[in-house]
Amino acid sequence: MKKRLVLLGAPGSGKGTQAEMITRQFGIPVTSPGAILRREKDLGTSLGIETAEIIQHGGLVPDDTIVKLIEDWLRLHGAHGFVFDGFPRTLRQAESLRAILVRHRTPLELAIWLEVSEETVRDRISGRLQCRSCGFVTSVSAGNFAERSICPYCEGPLVRRNDDDSTVLQNRLNEYHAKTEPLARFYEEGGLLHRIDGNRDREAVFGDISRLLGAA
Ligand code: AMP
Repeated sequence: MKKRLVLLGAPGSGKGTQAEMITRQFGIPVTSPGAILRREKDLGTSLGIETAEIIQHGGLVPDDTIVKLIEDWLRLHGAHGFVFDGFPRTLRQAESLRAILVRHRTPLELAIWLEVSEETVRDRISGRLQCRSCGFVTSVSAGNFAERSICPYCEGPLVRRNDDDSTVLQNRLNEYHAKTEPLARFYEEGGLLHRIDGNRDREAVFGDISRLLGAA
């Protein structure tokens, strides 16, 4: 079974949801720079504070900062594979990742692109709620979360991400089109790219990912 993969796609394409399902079902460790940086901000560390403003405006954090986070994470947790959710997001990050993995002799096995329409992105992001404690993602329309915003897993508060506001979302989409979409070619040329229709429900998407991993 394949155990080294990156999940790519627009904001709201389901990367975080699928990464969580992969780790629960197959035990492959997952990491997401966005989640790490939100946690750092909540903890009040200098990294969290320095990057909060960029994130709040929907920009991309400098490549060197992100690559260092990933390199440190791989050193500690990378022995049993990895799922990267939201990394790489620029060509420089993808090239750095390739160089790091060559050094570790653990090449990437899959680059999965979750393709979604702009309508799906806007629908999902406008209703998205996230647990501040454990990161669980849901939507206001699922369950009774509009009335009782409590995480069903850990009872933490379910909140809207402050970068899910519609103006910030537009900036994030602009960054995505300009800097992340070119990665499709990079991974296509490496024979690693697989596109999946991410407009469908989470189980259907997960079925396709499981097949690509060689687990179904
Ligand atoms: P996410 O949780 O993946 O939606 O990321 C939230 C925010 O964190 C992004 O809008 C960026 O500001 C920042 N971020 C996350 N991953 C990266 C990355 N690979 N490169 C640069 N910035 C990132």
